Amino acid sequence: MRYEKGRVRFRHGAVLAALALAACSAEPDRPAVSSYAAVSAARSCIAGALTAVTVDTVPIGPVHGPGRCGAIEAYSVTALGFAGDPIVAQPAATLSCGMIPALDRWVAESVQAAAMVAFGSEVERVSVASSYMCRAVARTSRLSEHGLANAIDISAFTLENGREITVADGWRGAPEERLFLHAIYNAACGVFETVLGPDDNADHRDHLHLDMADRGPNSTFQTCT
Ligand SMILES: [Zn+2]
Repeated sequence: MRYEKGRVRFRHGAVLAALALAACSAEPDRPAVSSYAAVSAARSCIAGALTAVTVDTVPIGPVHGPGRCGAIEAYSVTALGFAGDPIVAQPAATLSCGMIPALDRWVAESVQAAAMVAFGSEVERVSVASSYMCRAVARTSRLSEHGLANAIDISAFTLENGREITVADGWRGAPEERLFLHAIYNAACGVFETVLGPDDNADHRDHLHLDMADRGPNSTFQTCT
């Protein structure tokens, strides 16, 4: 199923829950994320109208807690990408303002093109393993970017021809699946602040983690090499 996501923009189980609990338990060590930084970034994003409201991107107001978790404004996102080739996000992702244009850019500039090169078919749907979820990075007390609605985990891509490419099997799987997944991982490195996958650690063996963490002006942290 494809549909157009207009320029004038108005804008889903048990397996996923299990994935979400396992997801991103080992984001790399880096300076603690301050909620102040996240709020500041969100305000800038909202003031700059960087995320447009469409039928696929619906503001749901602030999300809170428990504890340190939350976002001053969150969106329920059911499709990624600009007009023309949007990709259904299933289940809907709860994301902060800054994540949405980054995902749109990644899809529009890289994901669909990579799918056409590798499979001759565009991506119709991504499986969202996790988005907003209040948790600390595993084995630490540091708040995960997921707790700020500032991260998404994607575990699978379903093509318009019905083929499903999972990160778990495809990363070291068939040549065309490796080509696709590695291409979009590398492209994500130019868009997001943090990109993690199966080569980074065992915790990411079955999904790509993408976030827009703000590490401050002096950070030299890099996830992509
Ligand atoms: Zn994650």
